[in-house]
Amino acid sequence: MSEETAPTVCVVGGGPAGLSAALFTQKNGLETHVFDTDETWMHKAHLFNYLGVGSDDGTAFIETARRQVESFGVERHQGEAVESVDESGDGFVVETADGAYDADYVVLATGADRSLAESLGCAMTDDGVVEADLSMRTSVDGAYATGAMVRAEEWQAIIAAGDGAAAALDILSTEKGEHFHDFDVPADADTVFGAMSDEA
Ligand SMILES: Cc1cc2nc3c(=O)[nH]c(=O)nc-3n(C[C@H](O)[C@H](O)[C@H](O)COP(=O)(O)OP(=O)(O)OC[C@H]3O[C@@H](n4cnc5c(N)ncnc54)[C@H](O)[C@@H]3O)c2cc1C
Repeated sequence: MSEETAPTVCVVGGGPAGLSAALFTQKNGLETHVFDTDETWMHKAHLFNYLGVGSDDGTAFIETARRQVESFGVERHQGEAVESVDESGDGFVVETADGAYDADYVVLATGADRSLAESLGCAMTDDGVVEADLSMRTSVDGAYATGAMVRAEEWQAIIAAGDGAAAALDILSTEKGEHFHDFDVPADADTVFGAMSDEA
């Protein structure tokens, strides 16, 4: 990882998949932006099946997740629609009506809307979903696809969040040059990270 400038991750979509990816990358030192138009299906959901969450309104869940990622320093561009994602030689350019953002990595988390992945040139499966491996890598180097966009059905919030985490760990492993995991221990709850997550 460069000592001068942290690599940049642009996450497109702020549902469970995108916010989960952003949490892991920002917490572990990568500059992370999340663009979101607030059409997450979570606004229609009530969770009884998200392990560790007894019962929670989907909108309340996503609001907690937003506060959590913000507490770690993620820059959220709420209401800023991404119009295009293109390769730029050594990374990507993410364009919105407000500007263009350079990114070393892009995590696509746009729910069932796969149009950005298609226009970026990501391979699709015979089912018409974005092709991704277990680390959520697409056929485009440095571009990841997560959540509902990689599944024809079997859409669950906890799966989407897991996809985001898998993408983030792959990015972090690439940057660190070795397999990376984000393990904390009870003593870490007394540190600044523990204090921040308590606020969320
Ligand atoms: C009625 C209903 C009930 C459900 N109930 C449950 C349940 O009980 N339990 C459960 O586990 N799951 C439930 N789900 C499924 C769950 O909501 C999804 O699995 C989950 O939201 C998928 O997460 P995601 O991050 O992939 O996509 P989403 O949550 O859909 O998030 C995608 C985000 O990307 C944004 N976006 C899209 N394009 C752009 C763009 N170009 N620029 C910027 N932002 C963009 C959207 O606005 C959206 O906010 C339910 C779904 C529905 C529809």
